Amino acid sequence: MAAKQHDAPNLDSLSMLDAEGHRRYVLPADARGRYSRAKPWVYGLLIALYVGLPFASVGGHPAVLLDIPARQAWLFGQSFNAQDFYLVFFILTGIGFGLIVMSALFGRIWCGWACPQTVFLDGVFRRIERWIEGPAPRRARLADAPWSFEKLWRKGLKHAIYVALAVAIAQVFIAYFISADGVARLWAEGPAEHPAAFIWAVAMSGILYFNFWWFREQLCIVICPYGRLQSALQDQHTLIIGYDTVRGEPRGKLNTPGAGDCVACNRCVAVCPTGIDIRHGLQLECIGCAYCIDACDEIMVKVGRPKGLIRYDSQAGLSGETRRFWRPRVFAYVLAGLLGLAVATFMFRTHKPFEANVTRVQGAPFVVQDGLVENRLLVHVVNKNPKPSLFQLEPVREGDPRLMIPQAELLLQPFQDHRFPVVVEVPTQEMTPGLTVGLRVIDPVSQTSRVLDLEILGPRRAEPGATP
Ligand code: SF4
Ligand code: SF4
Repeated sequence: MAAKQHDAPNLDSLSMLDAEGHRRYVLPADARGRYSRAKPWVYGLLIALYVGLPFASVGGHPAVLLDIPARQAWLFGQSFNAQDFYLVFFILTGIGFGLIVMSALFGRIWCGWACPQTVFLDGVFRRIERWIEGPAPRRARLADAPWSFEKLWRKGLKHAIYVALAVAIAQVFIAYFISADGVARLWAEGPAEHPAAFIWAVAMSGILYFNFWWFREQLCIVICPYGRLQSALQDQHTLIIGYDTVRGEPRGKLNTPGAGDCVACNRCVAVCPTGIDIRHGLQLECIGCAYCIDACDEIMVKVGRPKGLIRYDSQAGLSGETRRFWRPRVFAYVLAGLLGLAVATFMFRTHKPFEANVTRVQGAPFVVQDGLVENRLLVHVVNKNPKPSLFQLEPVREGDPRLMIPQAELLLQPFQDHRFPVVVEVPTQEMTPGLTVGLRVIDPVSQTSRVLDLEILGPRRAEPGATP
């Protein structure tokens, strides 16, 4: 059973557990200040981005679409297929590296300001909770109160909105994989037509609802691997949110002789969404949301003391030393980052706009007839351009009599492929080991072409009229 939300945190274990190991359901109080005012704007922008990307269109295609069953992807007007899968390595390592550098420089800025868990929990679900159930003390009273009509309608309304939002967010998430049109089609045709997609949508909605209603900060504290890595990624000069013990301690009520600037009001604890006390130092549970800064600044203004008792600073800065931005690990990150960026840029720029490969028709690899060695081949072309393209095939040697191309051009839609038949006939006396005939595939959309060397097979010493 979950402990009451206003039970004291257990300092010997995780903040979300009480002394008996029960979950403390945290009901953070509202903070007021510059960071709290900035958050709705940042969250609004990010939600618009998360929600808008699969619905936005670039060049007539979704801005982001990862169509896994079809092994195709659209990224901001660029199309990729399974042969481009190696590029995922650069995307994933780039994101991972970016997070590592961000953590080394700015601590958990991602967690506190941009992670979808924070953005939706703090920016949407907790706001709805406050709107329906009131500020933290009233929410705590409502949680402890016996069931009544008021509790029923407030909880009922909150959960109805939570469920609707979870379903909506799940649809957005699914749209990244099947496109917005695909989601609309699922809704129009119903679950009976798409049972697998329906089960995914229900499971996803259920997980999101459970997470944003109950699981909440436990995801950051217990599950997220990024949070676990922080102690390895940060150093004394990393920007964190910290409490100035030099200034604040010994804490004591206002006008206590010899007391520091902390007036022991506990506002910083009350607003913390993970229920920790920042005055105990840097902790795993701190997601860097900055609400304790606003809470403490408000108190400092009220008691006539300078703001910044809790602030963005480094551990070095908080203990009175100079914070250094440029340090050996930052130089190493910049160098590695530039190198990675250069390699990734090169790989993306050399990403082929079409695939062209040669295969042989089934059956005998060659036929010798009337003094000619005949090879029947198929040129497999895949259009990876974001637009339809009229692919053309032509001999490299102009008018090469050895090459017969029955279908010299064809319009291929994006991701469409086609096998062009090609026949090569070489006089037996011209046959030499390793003989190749050049064929050019031209893609007018990307204005590129590729030369394929068609390897011609035949008898070592062909006899006219003989069939191997
Ligand atoms: S300690 Fe401060 S910054 Fe960290 S999670 Fe709590 S309120 Fe947010
Ligand atoms: S809000 Fe500031 S003054 Fe109040 S307990 Fe926290 S650190 Fe001390």
